[in-house]
Amino acid sequence: MDAMEQKMLEFFDRNYERLKLEGGHALTEDIKAQAKLQVVLYWRKLKDLADKISDAEVRIALPNQKTPKGRTFSIEGVVDIVREGDVNQMYDIKTHDLAYIQHNKELYEEQLNVYAHVWQELRKNKLDLTAVISTSVPQSLRDAMRSGNAVRIEKEFQSWNPVIPIAIHQDKVAKTIDSFAEVVDKIEDGVFPCPSISDLKQKVTGNEIFATNVCRNCDGRFSCEVYREYARGAGKGKAADFMKYFEPSVDGNEQEDWLEANANF
Ligand code: SF4
Repeated sequence: MDAMEQKMLEFFDRNYERLKLEGGHALTEDIKAQAKLQVVLYWRKLKDLADKISDAEVRIALPNQKTPKGRTFSIEGVVDIVREGDVNQMYDIKTHDLAYIQHNKELYEEQLNVYAHVWQELRKNKLDLTAVISTSVPQSLRDAMRSGNAVRIEKEFQSWNPVIPIAIHQDKVAKTIDSFAEVVDKIEDGVFPCPSISDLKQKVTGNEIFATNVCRNCDGRFSCEVYREYARGAGKGKAADFMKYFEPSVDGNEQEDWLEANANF
């Protein structure tokens, strides 16, 4: 680990202690170790790009929009800009996993199209490329690291590409703003319907369904009726094997790592 990475981990610890005091929440040692690993690997993978960022954390805002019910709202986001010679690139950093972003590109296109519209049409800047950066470490790389096999780790690290180019379609901007407006009305009206069981079974990545990819990471799953029904066997009334749906599926090694990492906590 070089001096820069050590410095980043020092900042991480300082920020973590501050957030813990402010929010009153702590992380278990294994989750903290995973977060640190993510920071270090993300830096190793993208330091060339990070060095080129000319405008960091640029606030993009589209104010004074109207919902169908007449409410006023603004769309805001934060992006990074890289200017290389005559070429301008816009990056939106997401913590979502790579497979999910690749499988649901249209969701990210909608958001980035609005940011691109503000950047080009309202701020009168040139834009040549937009992309999402996924900061999450792919499972295959995590597995390789767990195996300790240096060749496998290097191979997975080299094949990891966290930058996902997103096409700009200015003609879709109005439709996207309209759909945001409808969501604002739903939020303000308190309309929060749960997805159906069949939604929970839909694939959201190449091999994971919504229940696995999203619900398993949702803190509300223990009291969510739809998830409970799904877990009981999609309405078949089977309570058998129920608990496995409430726990992450971990293999023996993972469980051992968890115990070791948290034993001193
Ligand atoms: S568990 Fe969470 S994400 Fe899944 S349906 Fe229920 S509330 Fe939505």
